[in-house]
Amino acid sequence: MKHFIIIGPPGAGKGTQAKLIVEKHNLRHISTGDLLRAEIKADTKLGRKIKAIIDDGNLVPDEMVLKMIKSVITKNPHVSGFIFDGFPRTTIQASDFDSHLKSLGMDVNGVISIIISDDIVKDRIHHRAMIEDRKDDMNDEIIQNRIATYHAKTEPLIDYYKNQGKYHEIDGNGTIEEIFTTISTLIERLSK
Ligand code: AMP
Repeated sequence: MKHFIIIGPPGAGKGTQAKLIVEKHNLRHISTGDLLRAEIKADTKLGRKIKAIIDDGNLVPDEMVLKMIKSVITKNPHVSGFIFDGFPRTTIQASDFDSHLKSLGMDVNGVISIIISDDIVKDRIHHRAMIEDRKDDMNDEIIQNRIATYHAKTEPLIDYYKNQGKYHEIDGNGTIEEIFTTISTLIERLSK
């Protein structure tokens, strides 16, 4: 079973690319943001707690996200692989995930990092706010907090995965199709 991770700042196009990748490469898409938004939609007590965190642009606690991820993996024993979008977002999540996969005799096959400037990210998030009804996309202060959180908490993953020889950078400035072609070629190479 293959495990690919796509990382990048909010608005980098992770979700868009992940959806295209699953269609072509027969992988299962896991977006922790989507899983958390589903919990919010269900309007459970937990969902309301999550909503307050997401609406402020902060990260949901590691244990909560890890529990969700492990549950999805357990429920899908027959898929050929997964593409994780928006997970891991902290080194604690990454190392716990590594241990979990190791206990199952598996491994992360590759990490694809979409590189894009903060200014372009802000433009893209403003555009997405008009299409999707996401409160965390509508307020400049919250957007700034999410970008700062990415730099502080998620960027350390770059060194974490570089040290494992699993890190691959993609220029996020091209068109959706151009970026997809580059990622696809990379996934084919890493799947061999
Ligand atoms: P996304 O849809 O990936 O942009 O995620 C939306 C929001 O969900 C983020 O700003 C976080 O508040 C939360 N979130 C998503 N994935 C994670 C994660 N792996 N760890 C912690 N919080 C997360």
